[in-house]
Amino acid sequence: MTRVPLRDVYRDIRAYDVDAARFSLELADNTSPYGTPPAVRDFLAGAPGVNLSRYPTTYSRPLRDALAAYIGVAPDEIMVGAGSDEILSSTFRALGSPGALVAHMHPTFVMTRVFAITNSLRVVPVGLTASYDADADALLASEADIIYLCAPNNPTGTPVQRATLDKVIDEARGLVMVDEAYAEFAGSNLAAKAPGRDGMLVLRTMSKAFGLAGIRLGFAVGERALIAELEKARGPYAVPALSEQVALVALQHDLPWIQDKVAEVCATRDRFVGGLHAAGYTTLPSAANFVLVPIPGAASVGAALREKGILVRHFEALPGLGDALRISVGLPYDMPRVLASLQECAPCR
Ligand code: PMP
Repeated sequence: MTRVPLRDVYRDIRAYDVDAARFSLELADNTSPYGTPPAVRDFLAGAPGVNLSRYPTTYSRPLRDALAAYIGVAPDEIMVGAGSDEILSSTFRALGSPGALVAHMHPTFVMTRVFAITNSLRVVPVGLTASYDADADALLASEADIIYLCAPNNPTGTPVQRATLDKVIDEARGLVMVDEAYAEFAGSNLAAKAPGRDGMLVLRTMSKAFGLAGIRLGFAVGERALIAELEKARGPYAVPALSEQVALVALQHDLPWIQDKVAEVCATRDRFVGGLHAAGYTTLPSAANFVLVPIPGAASVGAALREKGILVRHFEALPGLGDALRISVGLPYDMPRVLASLQECAPCR
């Protein structure tokens, strides 16, 4: 058996290995700055009445019903998992035979590459176009078995244009995975279209807009037969009972609060971007809850910001972009501090 050398994936995953609690402002993982949604907080404060001596419901049927209503599809067109990380990995495991090719936008969500490699698949990174869109022609020319699109894309925050998406889905020879982790911020719902499109699987998560990264709840939406095929590669209890209960409470009672906070995050992002531009920085146009700021020497700027208690994610030598900081949008009153600190660490003029 060939093992994947740790060094091949470690440079991607070591950025996650930080003690976020040490920082007064954690703006590195694009989660919600508003904390646990209120109905979930109440639920957790009471006696939740979940019998933990039993397994969860098989294939999370009640949660799939609630998610189906949220997205606007049928329950059999949804699969749930322990975060979209786990869904990404199990999809590669279920559909990719060893050595199969995964073509992905580059740069994109780093775990895509890690999960492809650790499931014995090969990766083809495909650079973005000059307008930061996915490069449909190059992705298709790779003849990959699986094409991964991230819309909006992490870490750029930029959307994938509708015509690009349609072209890739229409012409791909295999599966097209569309990672829509930031859908709520972009006001998109590509997931609703997935069951009607042959070979399209959309990934969603409750880790971002829902403010529930801690329960590890992601889901995939696609054609019934595709979902049934993916379920074969997993057991019936992919989601813990408590996570299922919490997710149900959020879907039943917290949606108005969540929508309100999404709008607030977008408004804060736009004000923050305005401030960055006024101070002379450039940014990529973001449709998500984070902003990518190209900045030379981003690694040392990131380290200087950490000294000030602010944790952001730095990237080095991104193709076509160079060094950059990815800054998650925090609470409205925190972002002026981020801008002021950035100006101290890496002044523009
Ligand atoms: N996809 C993208 C594009 C992401 O940015 C992230 C989280 N950073 C994930 C998936 C993973 O989400 P989850 O917490 O559901 O595993």
